[in-house]
Amino acid sequence: MAREFRESTVALPETWPTVEEVAVNGTTLYYRLDTPAPLRDEAGRYRRDERGRIAIEAFMALPLSTMYGRLAAYLESVSPGDSAAQPDPARLKSAFAELVEFVERFGPLGIGWSRTYRAENVEADRLAIENGQLRWQVQASADLPQRAVSPLLARGRSPIWLVVFPELGLAPFGEVRQARSFPELAWEARVRLEDNLIAHDRLGTIDDGPLSRTRAVMQEALDLVHALAGPNPHVIRDAIERFSRADRIFWVGSEPVDSTALNWRLAVRGMVPEDGLWRPFKAHRGQVDWETLGWSILAQHLSRMLTWGSLRVGLRGHRPQLGWRVGSLVEVMYLQLLEHVTQHPDFGIGQCAYCGAPILRVRRQQRWHTGCAPAGRQRESRASRKARHAVEPDQ
Ligand SMILES: [Zn+2]
Repeated sequence: MAREFRESTVALPETWPTVEEVAVNGTTLYYRLDTPAPLRDEAGRYRRDERGRIAIEAFMALPLSTMYGRLAAYLESVSPGDSAAQPDPARLKSAFAELVEFVERFGPLGIGWSRTYRAENVEADRLAIENGQLRWQVQASADLPQRAVSPLLARGRSPIWLVVFPELGLAPFGEVRQARSFPELAWEARVRLEDNLIAHDRLGTIDDGPLSRTRAVMQEALDLVHALAGPNPHVIRDAIERFSRADRIFWVGSEPVDSTALNWRLAVRGMVPEDGLWRPFKAHRGQVDWETLGWSILAQHLSRMLTWGSLRVGLRGHRPQLGWRVGSLVEVMYLQLLEHVTQHPDFGIGQCAYCGAPILRVRRQQRWHTGCAPAGRQRESRASRKARHAVEPDQ
C-alpha cells in the first residue's frame, strides 16, 4: 500500500523504506513508498546489487554526467521556445535510468529528509488569508467577479509549513517554506503538480544540485579514508585540504566540556596559539599531527552526517526495541563507511578493476566486487593473451 512520507515515522532498527513506484518530474524524483525492508540480510551483510556492491559503492558508480547529458539532449528535442510543450515523464525517467534502478533496489535517497520537520505557522497563514480577502474585495468591487478567487479556495494551499535545518558544516541557516499539497488528488496528479508532501528527492543541476553535491562530498570522504589507511602525513594533509567540509579554524583554547566533542588540541604539535584559534594550514607542517587531525575531521564529518538520525524505540512483534531511526539512505551509506573504518581502518578504499566504483575492502587485496570478479578476470585474461600474441612475432 502506498503511504505518505512522514518525518516522524519510526522505522524498525536497521530498516529503510522500499519504493513501489518512481516518477520523475523535471529533475525531481517522486516515490510511492512501500513498507520498510531490512538493510541487512540474515548473515548481517548489507543489501547488495547484482554486482555484489553495497549502497555506497553502487551510489558512487552512478554515471551522473551520462544521465544529465541524456536529460539535456531530450529537453532540447522538446520544441524549445514552446512553453506549452510538456516533457514526457517516461522519457525523463529513462534519462535517469541508473538512478531509478538504484532507488528501486536500495530505497529512496531521502536527501535532507531527516533535516525536514513539519510545522504550523499560524500568524503567516492568518496574514495571507487577510491579504487575499482584501484583494478579493477590491477585485469583486471592480466588477470582475469571474477573475476573483476566494483565498480560502486557492489551489494547493496547505496549512503545513516545512522547517529545513541547515546541512552542518555547509549552510549557516535553515529555511522555512509553505508546503504546496493536493491531498485529495491521486498520486500521479500530485507528482505533476509538484506536491511537497509526497516523498521526493530534488536532484537539482549537475553543477551544484543536492545529488551531485552529496556525491562529491562522499568522494572526498572516501579519499580521506583512503589517505588515512596509509598513513603518510603528506598524503593525509592533501586529502584534508581537498575535503571541502573540513573546518579551517579550530578552537584549542580549552579542553572540550561536552564529552562527545572532539579535542582538536590533540592534533597540535608544539605551542597552542595564544588566542586559542588554531589554523593548521597556516602552521608549519611539522607542527601538525596530520594523522590525528585527519581522523578527527573524519569523525566530525560522520557525526555531522548522522546527527539528524536519532534513537527511537520501535516494536518487533510485541517487544519494544531500541533502535536508530535512519533518516535517509545517505545516512545508511555513511554508516557503511563508518563500519568500514571501524573494522578495517588500514585496508583503505580500492577501485574495482571492472566497474570502476570504489571498493570498501574487507580483505587487504581486493580488485573486484564479488559480482564483477568473473567478468573482470575474463577481461584480464583476454587482455594478457592479446599482449602475448602482440609480443610473439618479435621473439
Ligand atoms: Zn565492480
